[in-house]
Amino acid sequence: MLSFSKGFNSKIYLSLVVFAGCSGLEQSEQEKLRRHNAKGEFIHRAHDEYHYAIETPSQYVREKYPWEKAYSGKHSKITKEYFRCRGSRVNPPHVDQREAAQIANYFDCGGFQKHSLPIRDGQEFVYPVLVELLNYVQEKTGCKVVITCGHRCPVHNAYADSSPSNQHSKHLIGAEVDFYVQGMEQKPEEVVNLIMAYYKAKNKEYQEFKRLEKGEWNVKTPPWGNKEILIKLYKKEEGRDFDNRHPYPYIGIQVRFDPEKNEKVVADWQKAFNGYRRF
Ligand SMILES: [Zn+2]
Repeated sequence: MLSFSKGFNSKIYLSLVVFAGCSGLEQSEQEKLRRHNAKGEFIHRAHDEYHYAIETPSQYVREKYPWEKAYSGKHSKITKEYFRCRGSRVNPPHVDQREAAQIANYFDCGGFQKHSLPIRDGQEFVYPVLVELLNYVQEKTGCKVVITCGHRCPVHNAYADSSPSNQHSKHLIGAEVDFYVQGMEQKPEEVVNLIMAYYKAKNKEYQEFKRLEKGEWNVKTPPWGNKEILIKLYKKEEGRDFDNRHPYPYIGIQVRFDPEKNEKVVADWQKAFNGYRRF
């Protein structure tokens, strides 16, 4: 009983002192108390010591990020990021009823959140010539290039266009792109001419474009081809797959030849199916 009351009293006393310290004492009293409690210490220096002069840190201009380099136009520079698969789980199942007896349901992929771009040498990869060409078009026209379809994983490829001719699409391996140019929607021929003009500054063997009259094309306009690429022009009523539901004509560019590896570019199923990462 005794110890309890003693402890209780000292608690009250302490809290009173703290309270007084906060606001009760005059400023000069506080200062006196501080000086009284303060302990001084001398700092000893040798006679030849001096202060080091600190140099003003030099400023430098931040190095540009890769997507900022070599592009001065008003639209963002196109990078391989723009080629990511446009599939989405939100898309409803697609029912293919062309053969009445074999009605097939196709479900869409989870899009770029669920899988990568094609992988080459351990890195995400789309053929760089496609990126270069689209930036060239943007720069020359001052208009925005709208990519409607870059990479398609096998699941989205089947969902977007389940026709047998599309099974070996080069979209599967990052070697094809579909796009139109905002403000030039009705002048796709001009864009095609521009793409061919890009090759005038390249090696001679890439400069020559031929019209490919023969072959089973899904377009009425004969495509244009050089050693490296094939250009297809889809009119308003052609090529209306799931990714190209807009009302404009559009251009598809396929890569035919890879100068870096010196080989023909072929979309084979193994490469497409095993060539990207699932998350
Ligand atoms: Zn996909």
